[in-house]
Amino acid sequence: MDAAPNKTAADPGPLHAPVYSARIECPLCHEAERQILVRPRRTRPLRIEGDLFRWIPVWSGSRPADFGLDLRPLDLGLLACTACGFTESQETYRTFQQGSYPNSRTLVQFLIHKGAVHYEPLKTLAEAVRAGAADPGSRLALHLMAVAVQLLPPPEIRDEQRIGLMAHRLARFYTDRLLYGGPCWDAPDSVSLPATSPLASTLDEPIRRFEGLRGSWPKIPLGYDGALDLASHGYGRAAARGFAGKTPLRRLELDFARLQVVSETRDMEKLRALLMGILTQSRSLLEALRKEASLPASSLEGLDALRKLEDQIQRLRTMERKSSEALQTLASDARGGA
Ligand SMILES: [Zn+2]
Repeated sequence: MDAAPNKTAADPGPLHAPVYSARIECPLCHEAERQILVRPRRTRPLRIEGDLFRWIPVWSGSRPADFGLDLRPLDLGLLACTACGFTESQETYRTFQQGSYPNSRTLVQFLIHKGAVHYEPLKTLAEAVRAGAADPGSRLALHLMAVAVQLLPPPEIRDEQRIGLMAHRLARFYTDRLLYGGPCWDAPDSVSLPATSPLASTLDEPIRRFEGLRGSWPKIPLGYDGALDLASHGYGRAAARGFAGKTPLRRLELDFARLQVVSETRDMEKLRALLMGILTQSRSLLEALRKEASLPASSLEGLDALRKLEDQIQRLRTMERKSSEALQTLASDARGGA
């Protein structure tokens, strides 16, 4: 551990670079180590042709020469503590609050008191994530760690929503490396997936290495389908359980996240049912919110609330539009296939 006076001293690097490196303190065990962080605004989404829900982020306004690292946007956005194993999204890691993180007490139990990082599968994965390392194996290990940490508690007290989110991230990482592998800057607005990704081989060695973890993690998702399957089940169980679905909008957003995963598994029955549900719910919720927003805002507080409502309405409208587009696509695919 470095003797830095400030445990989170940042080295922001050139301001135009989309990534920077900084020493970040782990919110669970308080060890600080160097991590690679991303500036989220320096990426833009690139649509995959013929797919409403799948997209790849690319760097915006930067070239690799500007920052000198062979890092793709989907390599980043997760931070891991190799001392205790805690791994989370960059945002959650940095704003972590014990009280609001659903299973923080359970994770403290497993990671701090039981030292889960000294046992497989976390041991091998944490060793593969060398501080600040940018190689594909290290980036894959980071994504697998994020899922492994959420699978530590027994099934009945797992945070299924986080399992869904982290497995979804892992699936996106595989989409980028194994299926797309195209340029991650200066790209057109949409791309099609090539027959073979030019980057797929970068994961051959680490995937072989992590195959050795099947003894401690039999279903370790070492491919796109496995990750997608885990994400779909996680979101599904989270929705069924009502975990974290505190407001109707949160529940809908969870369903919408699940929709993206289900659309890729090509389970058409499930997809249609989910779409119909989202469309009905988002329309009735939209109506209720619009009524609320049309009430006069009599104070500054009222204006803030109004802005928040307008933001919610915007999010709902996007969900409504995408769901209805997807239903139309499904209907025309069914006609074309008949
Ligand atoms: Zn830690």
